[in-house]
Amino acid sequence: DLLRDGRASPTIFARMSARAAELGAMNLGQGFPDTDPPPAVAEAAVAAIRAGANQYPPGPGTPELRAAIARHQERFYGLSWDPAREVLVTTGATEAIAASILALVRPGDEVLTLEPYYDSYAAMIALAGGAHRTVPLTVELIDATVGGGEGDLRLGVDPAALRAAITDATRLILVNSPHNPTGITLPPEALTAIVEGAAAHDAIIVSDEVYEHLVFDDAHTPIATLPGARERTITIGSAGKTLSVTGWKIGWITAPSELVTAVTGVKQWLTYTSGAPFQGAVATGLDLPDEEFDAIADDLRRRRDGLLATLRGIGARVSVPAAGYFVVADLSGLGEVDAAALCERLPEEAGVVAIPVPAFCRDEADGGHASRFASLVRFAFCKDDATMTEAACRLEAWA
Ligand code: PMP
Ligand code: GLN
Repeated sequence: DLLRDGRASPTIFARMSARAAELGAMNLGQGFPDTDPPPAVAEAAVAAIRAGANQYPPGPGTPELRAAIARHQERFYGLSWDPAREVLVTTGATEAIAASILALVRPGDEVLTLEPYYDSYAAMIALAGGAHRTVPLTVELIDATVGGGEGDLRLGVDPAALRAAITDATRLILVNSPHNPTGITLPPEALTAIVEGAAAHDAIIVSDEVYEHLVFDDAHTPIATLPGARERTITIGSAGKTLSVTGWKIGWITAPSELVTAVTGVKQWLTYTSGAPFQGAVATGLDLPDEEFDAIADDLRRRRDGLLATLRGIGARVSVPAAGYFVVADLSGLGEVDAAALCERLPEEAGVVAIPVPAFCRDEADGGHASRFASLVRFAFCKDDATMTEAACRLEAWA
């Protein structure tokens, strides 16, 4: 039973990364950058270890990092949080998601997410005994009637579908914008639909904004900045994404104190505290000038454009991501209509690893919408130039 409900099986990312290592394939699967963080951030961690920051830090996070998180939210979004009561440091965004769900969801409570969704959401909702309900993204082929990027795919969300899905049964709405796996950002109408629905039905919003700084067009809009949202929203961030240190596992939440207290209560039983020497280094990173944040996004935009050109060149239809680490593509023009089967073969056939979008979905039999996304594949572009170039050559040779 444990194996069947997925609690004991490795994640798709772990499995596909192991396959990449085994075959020497280019790993455009798991989303982690293989570039280093800003030098000042790395040096601060080394200095902290030398200076003796090697024992348990305070459970909710060091005062220094909590203050830096509050400053960061104020500086970029004009949101003020009390670092002592409204900020919690977690062991990555993963723990922030887990502790938020375990703190707020009782058996049978309904949790709403988009679909496809980041895989840990479904696992944690199941561990909490919640009922997972999803609103599927829309998939549209851009042609002359739609305009802009002919031949590409446009992924989106229907605000009316969101409104209809939020009911008195909804305990929690787990929002993810910028979105993994697609890289879309939710438009203002969708964010408004969520906030209004949550207020009308007294639901709590948990907003996973780990890709907040990896945006290529417009600046990021935290849902907590919308009227009526702040008092019912937990916002999640990650140093892994923001500073390119996924191995450090430092994340955080900002929320009204009552919600922070509830999540802290669970966090203390999950990990107690989070990596001491990294906390000061992340504080250093969050205080870096805007140009440092922009440099990471600019670099990713260049890689995104390179991958889009490669995929279009081999005859795939692409969805142009507005943010994040990933391009979603449809290879059915090459006769590949089953993304799951293709991603199993691709490492050996092409020497490239990618992730099937249905891995972020549920089957129709389980109340999901996987078949709508059956032909879509997620390719990561957060990899160094040598990897991206070699992957492009291999995909061109394969196609
Ligand atoms: N949420 C989303 C949407 C993610 O993509 C990821 C990382 N892939 C996480 C949460 C987990 O973040 P962390 O590494 O900080 O635990
Ligand atoms: N978030 C990363 C991704 O989407 C991977 C994180 C993980 O391996 N759990 O690829």
